[in-house]
Amino acid sequence: MSDTLAPVRPGKLIINGEAVDAASGATFETRNPATEELITNVAEAGVEDVDRAVRAARAAFDGGAWPKMKPGDRARLLHKLGDLILANADEIARLETLDNGKPIFESRHVDIAMVAGCFHYFSGWASKLTGETNSVNPAFFTYTLREPLGVVGAIIPWNFPMIMVGWKAAPALAAGNTVVIKPAAETPLSAIRIAELAIEAGFPPGVFNVVPGRGSVAGEALVKHPMVDKISFTGSTEVGKHIMRTAADTVKKLTLELGGKSPNIVFADADLDAALRGATMGIFYGKGEVCAAGSRLLVEKSIYEEFTAKLAERARKMVPGDPLDPKTRLGALINEKQMNSVLGYIETGVKEGARLVAGGARAPINGKGTFVQATVLADVDNKMRVAQEEIFGPVLAVIPFDDAADAVAKANDVFFGLASGVWTKDVKKAHTVSRALRAGTVWINMYNFFDPGMPFGGYKASGFGRDLGAACLQDYTQLKSVWLNLE
Ligand code: NAP
Ligand code: MG
Repeated sequence: MSDTLAPVRPGKLIINGEAVDAASGATFETRNPATEELITNVAEAGVEDVDRAVRAARAAFDGGAWPKMKPGDRARLLHKLGDLILANADEIARLETLDNGKPIFESRHVDIAMVAGCFHYFSGWASKLTGETNSVNPAFFTYTLREPLGVVGAIIPWNFPMIMVGWKAAPALAAGNTVVIKPAAETPLSAIRIAELAIEAGFPPGVFNVVPGRGSVAGEALVKHPMVDKISFTGSTEVGKHIMRTAADTVKKLTLELGGKSPNIVFADADLDAALRGATMGIFYGKGEVCAAGSRLLVEKSIYEEFTAKLAERARKMVPGDPLDPKTRLGALINEKQMNSVLGYIETGVKEGARLVAGGARAPINGKGTFVQATVLADVDNKMRVAQEEIFGPVLAVIPFDDAADAVAKANDVFFGLASGVWTKDVKKAHTVSRALRAGTVWINMYNFFDPGMPFGGYKASGFGRDLGAACLQDYTQLKSVWLNLE
């Protein structure tokens, strides 16, 4: 593989503006899924370290270093962090690709733009959060204050490690909260590097903390900690449910961004070449390890055979490659467990009666790496497991439908409700179907587009609360009603 650059430094915890070891001295390995090689060792946060980070965040909040700073000054720091991310883009993108196995094309050109974009976009909001003057009675002066929550714990998954730092830390900090981030143990490196850049930007100590470690230890400690006001979690539905139960003990506020099984609906009257590109990118982007992946492709019966054949042909051309090669568009899955789970689902699909028309196997490079071929399962029934469960890999389930009503019924007949896609040239149909879909996002004649200014989040079991956009600031602030007696 073309990894000839400098070795990666060991990762540390970032607590109170310093890079430190774990109190226990424990470390864990982070590996490159494409080569199976060790990238570096990372300090492993235990309960004591999480407590230290939370207390630092609490002191930075209660002592006022951050919330009492002029919003314009906070904005400048957030903006500077966005600039520093862009200035160090090559290094951070490489860390992300080594750690996660995703193509460098994605980390360098998509993820970097999003994470820097979040710090730039939300820096603008720092000075624009306002309460209201409410004229309820001439005898009183009544108004509301929009205030930060306090300490926000952010628990993030391995599929978009740096993007999730931007999605969660940028709005939380813009609103005047302090943060403690628990990255996924598989992919801790980019969050650590961004926290180092926050120190370089001049954030006060304790405002931006990172505690890499295991979910069952560091994550659990963050959720239980009485000094944490809110948990913003992105990850699996199972862990999300567990966090919800645990957080009840301390009545923490929650944002949960959970799994998906998103329908991408292609009508016969669509621009079929565009739909073909959108369907392919909708599932194979990010190796399909994407919460919003268009993993159920619903195709109108009149074009079903032809469309499926073209899709299979396209998928067969998407050969997995060295993630560090700029030409690669399909990387390695996160680890062996995930690869085996994905391969198991392909087997299940075939046993359930689906027709394997592309891929279906592991595709190691030089005998190594957790690469799986771009896989298409045709003739899938919406009741099959491969149509109902999140596979989280490069596996597309293609399901035929009769008409718009049938498409909507099938699209909604699933536990999740994260995203969806509609491909048609009929404007009326595009909008009526969009309204009928029970999903937090609908993309019409496009798929997998994100912007810091557009809210993203789930309906149904895909969670609640929103990341991004002005909407998410509601979730990182609270309202205080103030009454003054004028008589
Ligand atoms: P996961 O297993 O739920 O892990 C997510 C994070 O939670 C990791 O940091 C994990 O730590 C931590 N965690 C595990 N157990 C915990 C516990 N008991 N208490 C507190 N934290 C705990 O999910 P994943 O496999 O990393 O990510 C894939 C899932 O994320 C998919 O279901 C995907 O759909 C979802 N996702 C959703 C969105 C969205 O916006 N809706 C975006 C991306 C991904 P470890 O590092 O130890 O595992
Ligand atoms: Mg790794």
